[in-house]
Amino acid sequence: MLVCDDDNTRYNALCGVNMIVKIGDINIGDGSPIAIQSMCNTKTVDIDGSIAQILKLEEHGCDIVRLSVPDVASSIAIAEIVKAVHIPVVADIHFDYKLAIASADAGVHKIRLNPGNIGSEQRVKYVADYLNERNIPIRIGVNGGSLEKQYKDMPIADAMCASAMGHINMLENANFFNTIVSVKSSNVRDNVDAYRKLRAVCDYPLHVGVTEAGVYEQGVIKSAIGIGSLLLDGIGDTIRVSLTDEPYKEVDTAKIILQSLGLGAPHVDVISCPTCARTDINVMSLANKVIELTKHIKKDVKIAVMGCVVNGPGEASHCDFGIAGGREKSVIFENGVVLKTVPNSELLDEIIKFIDRL
Ligand code: SF4
Repeated sequence: MLVCDDDNTRYNALCGVNMIVKIGDINIGDGSPIAIQSMCNTKTVDIDGSIAQILKLEEHGCDIVRLSVPDVASSIAIAEIVKAVHIPVVADIHFDYKLAIASADAGVHKIRLNPGNIGSEQRVKYVADYLNERNIPIRIGVNGGSLEKQYKDMPIADAMCASAMGHINMLENANFFNTIVSVKSSNVRDNVDAYRKLRAVCDYPLHVGVTEAGVYEQGVIKSAIGIGSLLLDGIGDTIRVSLTDEPYKEVDTAKIILQSLGLGAPHVDVISCPTCARTDINVMSLANKVIELTKHIKKDVKIAVMGCVVNGPGEASHCDFGIAGGREKSVIFENGVVLKTVPNSELLDEIIKFIDRL
């Protein structure tokens, strides 16, 4: 049975599970828009540096940001950071429950913490009560690389799932149900298997990502496959792309993954062909120019930049605007029909005129 409380948080009343978890003013789960998360790679005690990085993440479309809180100084710093930024802040805690309490006092909007790692049932109960009183959710984050010993003989996906359920049970025994769960691995197959298994036995919203996915190109591909596979299954309520690179690139990549599956915010979709011996215009330069000129536009519009009239007209005919290049002149399409033919030297001007009308 599903019920709503005053702030529209939905509960599965039979088992106490929050179907929607609120992180600040962002709803996670139960069909809410999929939130994009990233994590600062600054020292949290570097308050100015952390704030600057978060503001850049905001510009790129980040919905929620996480910072490590490894010590008391970081928990003090995070209070200043929370006040200066505009998106919900998550404190990442390992082992020390007092840092979770200090971070809650600092005003963070979620705590990432595994209750099995903080020492005792009494501590779990203390943290659970403290966060329940303040309506601060917890994300349980199981990582395939640091599983508890008791799961070491199980297949990895089963082990991750069992570990997550163990942490969930600890929180539920402490009467805490305001939970989000992740089961990340750096191995894409294990990662996807673990989330599929977990979804079958767990109703809490899921935070999805491939952990330690690597440097830019490798990380983008592993994340696109891992996160994309799960999203296609309808699994995933918030996502993080993990890259050994600038955090804003995680956000850019996450946006493209969501957009590719029709799950992102309205945007301009630029289709371009890979070019071949038939190409007579500079497709790469034009397509990149269109992407640059349209990235601020928040409307669902499709633009095709095609190199010739073999496949070009067919693709362009499904678009709001399209060009199919020719030797000296190119064909312009609008709303699926041929509008006119223009000299190649005027192509960019025609594209800009269309974008201006958007
Ligand atoms: S659209 Fe034309 S130019 Fe582009 S790859 Fe296909 S055949 Fe080649």
